[in-house]
Amino acid sequence: MEEVRTQTKKRKRNKPRKSQNNNNPSHQKNKVTHEPNQSSSALAHPTKSSTFLDKMRARLSGGHFRMINEKLYTCSGKEALDYFKDDPALFDMYHTGYQEQMSHWPEQPVNIIMKWLKNHNPSLVVADFGCGDGRLAKNVKNKVFSFDLVSNDPSVIACDMSKTPLDSSVIDVAVFCLSLMGTNYQNYLKEAHRVLKPCGWLLIAEVKSRFDPNTGGADPKKFSKAVCDLGFSSVLQDYSNKMFVLLYFKKKDKQKSEMQEIEWPELKPCLYKRR
Ligand code: SAH
Repeated sequence: MEEVRTQTKKRKRNKPRKSQNNNNPSHQKNKVTHEPNQSSSALAHPTKSSTFLDKMRARLSGGHFRMINEKLYTCSGKEALDYFKDDPALFDMYHTGYQEQMSHWPEQPVNIIMKWLKNHNPSLVVADFGCGDGRLAKNVKNKVFSFDLVSNDPSVIACDMSKTPLDSSVIDVAVFCLSLMGTNYQNYLKEAHRVLKPCGWLLIAEVKSRFDPNTGGADPKKFSKAVCDLGFSSVLQDYSNKMFVLLYFKKKDKQKSEMQEIEWPELKPCLYKRR
């Protein structure tokens, strides 16, 4: 009963927030929910030990997570780097909330990328753009360069991934797993193109709602066209998962001598709902 009351209260407290966002319908439309587990996990297994204070702490950290998440989706990579430089503790806060959200996804996209790598030659050199805690590198045999805004692990290189310290044409596989967050996301893809060898792979996993035009997301065809105009060929577009899309490309062997103007669609922020 107690949990049910908490849920009811949450809904009431949500209302003002919704109206605050009314002038930006895209924010509403791209809120991610986790319907399969959401209500059952909250209602069926109340933990006896959870105190009022624990609940308040969880609510506070959930609020912090959503605030940092929104910041990362609405600023450039450079601004995001400065944001975490000012207060690196925000990065841990973000990742605690991120892991909580991900624990409700039936499948983690990073595991799909791991499987892909395990089915290919382990000699392929990988760059993990926006690696988070560097999980990918820890779970495959490949040499992996892991990049993120903050490094809490010696294997992770802290940088804005639009400017990595890699030389050109040295990478076989560039991975973006839920990391095309900045408003200048196209610069991250340009950087991936620079560091990839000819015929190298570009593997993108992104939140599905960001590519659903029916809910304010980008047109996936426009996104794919822009990536192809950058110098890639589309190899796979997989929309079968409920939570994320997989878009795989290969860098073209020969590049056009003249770069054309590329029309990049805007990618809406992915905002998480209060639980
Ligand atoms: N790929 C990981 C983490 C995804 S969360 C996974 O699948 O588990 C997205 C990550 O991208 C965050 O850690 C965030 O800090 C990082 N990120 C976002 N913009 C970035 C930028 N401009 N440069 C480097 N990392 C960035």
